[in-house]
Amino acid sequence: MTTKNISLTPAVFHLPHRVNAIAPIYAENPIVPRGPRLAPILGRVQEKLRKALGCQETHDPVMLTCSGSGAIAAALGSCVRSKDSTRNPRILVISNGAYGERQARYANQIGLSTTHYALAYGERPDLDEVERLVTENDVDAIGLVHGATSTCSVNPMTEIGAIAKRLGKTYVVDGIASLFVEEIDLEAASVDVMIGSTNKGLHANPDLAFVLVAKPLLEQVCEESGRIPYLDLGEAWKSQRSGGHPYTINIRALLEVEAALDSLNDEGGVSGRIAIYKSRNQLLRAGYREIGLKTFEHPGMPLQNIGTALWIPEGVQYSILADDLASWDHENGECYEIYSAQGRLADRVFRIFNMGEYSLETYSRFLEALKACLQKQTG
Ligand SMILES: *Cc1c(COP(=O)(O)O)cnc(C)c1O
Repeated sequence: MTTKNISLTPAVFHLPHRVNAIAPIYAENPIVPRGPRLAPILGRVQEKLRKALGCQETHDPVMLTCSGSGAIAAALGSCVRSKDSTRNPRILVISNGAYGERQARYANQIGLSTTHYALAYGERPDLDEVERLVTENDVDAIGLVHGATSTCSVNPMTEIGAIAKRLGKTYVVDGIASLFVEEIDLEAASVDVMIGSTNKGLHANPDLAFVLVAKPLLEQVCEESGRIPYLDLGEAWKSQRSGGHPYTINIRALLEVEAALDSLNDEGGVSGRIAIYKSRNQLLRAGYREIGLKTFEHPGMPLQNIGTALWIPEGVQYSILADDLASWDHENGECYEIYSAQGRLADRVFRIFNMGEYSLETYSRFLEALKACLQKQTG
């Protein structure tokens, strides 16, 4: 028997059978991504995306060929606009983890005047400070990460959205780790621009990403060029709204995204998937407590549904723990891949994610392996 590699990471994991079934069929019957063959597939994917996320009336999804980070660059480069054409657009980026820092870095690199409200990893942004920075710097936009993967916590998206709305700022949110797996009402949260990818909460392959843009803003975005060639949402949308795409787009990947959306629908949509993730977390977090592991958390920052950040216990070396779990092939035929923390937390915290197509029994078996591997080090 070969060992099954269980991914307890957020990027690549086992996918629904429906998604995996696409590639062999497509290999026999590849589709040229043009005109009459592309339009219906693209149209179905976009409609199912709007429906799954409940934004048919308010937002349109622009599809991109890249991973999630490409969609961050596309959103910043296309949707952050200056009301005064004699100066660069200005953005306030709020960061409390690796992806907020990435957003600030990208904003700066593409020439946006960037104010960076940089907090310690996992710390809740102070709303008065956000408002002060927005007003003082007269920014055009506010950028936030919703599901904060580096600390497995959730940022106050709706509260900051209320500030953006009241002050008339474009609100750009990285929802790569929260779309499909956290309750999100784009309109209630006043989100103008929501960044997503197809591999994380949607359970497809990491080939495509998308940006949901509020319909009136998308019309404006179409009127001028974005700051980054290729990752230009206006250019893409002008073509996509009539069923095309300005470049080669991977139809196999589009069909896999459609299969992933159908599979999500079978699970009861976003709320059904959230319920599955919540039951995994109930089991896992009770198990961590029992083993004596401490959760990394900060006041006012709820835990993310996709995973848990844990303090590395005294006397334990993370790299040994990860290696032992990755080579855990005895007894149950499974081995487990866990994830280190990012940036400044890496030597104190590690992360265990609960994404993908795994049964609750898999997580029970993992807890036993985790306990044994920890005991091996602490005696
Ligand atoms: C994973 C992740 C990204 C980066 O996505 P890639 O697909 O690796 O480019 C960005 N933001 C958040 C919140 C993420 O979780």
